[in-house]
Amino acid sequence: MEKTDILSLKLDELEALLVEMGEKKFRAKQIYQWLHVKRVFGFEEMTDLSNQLRLKLEERFCIKRLFIQKKLESSIDNTVKYLYRLPDGNFVETVLMEYNYGRSICISTQVGCKMGCRFCASAIAGFVRNLEPSEILMQIYETEKDSGIRVSGVVLMGIGEPLDNYDNVVKFLNLVSDKNGNNLSLRHVSLSTCGIVPKIYELAQLRLGLTLSVSLHSADNDRRSEIMPVNRTYNMHSLIKACRDYIDKTGRRVTFEYAVIDDVNSSDADADKLASLLRGINCHVNLIPVNKVKERSYKTARSGVEQFARLLNKRGINATVRRTLGSDIEAACGQLRRDAAGNN
Ligand code: SAH
Repeated sequence: MEKTDILSLKLDELEALLVEMGEKKFRAKQIYQWLHVKRVFGFEEMTDLSNQLRLKLEERFCIKRLFIQKKLESSIDNTVKYLYRLPDGNFVETVLMEYNYGRSICISTQVGCKMGCRFCASAIAGFVRNLEPSEILMQIYETEKDSGIRVSGVVLMGIGEPLDNYDNVVKFLNLVSDKNGNNLSLRHVSLSTCGIVPKIYELAQLRLGLTLSVSLHSADNDRRSEIMPVNRTYNMHSLIKACRDYIDKTGRRVTFEYAVIDDVNSSDADADKLASLLRGINCHVNLIPVNKVKERSYKTARSGVEQFARLLNKRGINATVRRTLGSDIEAACGQLRRDAAGNN
């Protein structure tokens, strides 16, 4: 029998398996806390369990660790980019960032990405597979172990489209916030999506309390389809409707991500369109200067972002310019990529 990935199990699932193995239910909580609270990743180190049980666990379960293949530290802002090797030899990137209110971590949800956004590096090498809940979670645990830092916020904005790996991402959200385990409030978690509309409705139903970030990047439906192929399946108007539903159901404001690109989406007319699209919606617009991806020619003049922010503010839209972190180590938004050699 293939060993079960124990870090992907919720406490009730682990309890059921232990009872099935003829063990007492309370053992599950002990093991769960070794893993998720004490961060002990070897059964032999779980010293309040009998030797016999430790051997049984070894036979039945595996603890899938991630290995640091490469680690890059920014010399300008304390950002650290990790390239993790997964148990099957694939790679994902994770970024540890510093803000004035604490440390945040940007994690990946898939190996590669299917979405094909024109300006994004993650799309270039294509899609390989979904990450398991434990592989999403372990990016946090391994990074905390390596850095000695306890992160205070998590953003699902690394490689991959979280809502294209919906079940595993929801399970991850349950695990990361479990009071018996890692216990991070989902108020400190943001999930970023390119706009998989049906899944936004499903997520709203769960009322998890996390922040939904929507990568909008254009308020013109045709232009959006050019730069984000997902818009051909779920168009901008259906996306905005889903966002309104999310806000109604959860009472949370939505963040719209907007990478400002010269000659693509930053004119006065673009500001007019964006302002009229978002008028009356409880939201915030995060403007990002489009980051350089070597295979692509998109660019932004810094002044262009500030100027676009002013255009929006004048139109009554709450927009701020996001600080770019880790630019010297290609850790900024959209620069992450699946790369076996890790030499991007
Ligand atoms: N798939 C999700 C999350 C990963 S991308 C999503 O699309 O939201 C995280 C954010 O980086 C998204 O807002 C994405 O549009 C943005 N992004 C991608 N490439 C970028 C680039 N070159 N410059 C700036 N932002 C970029």
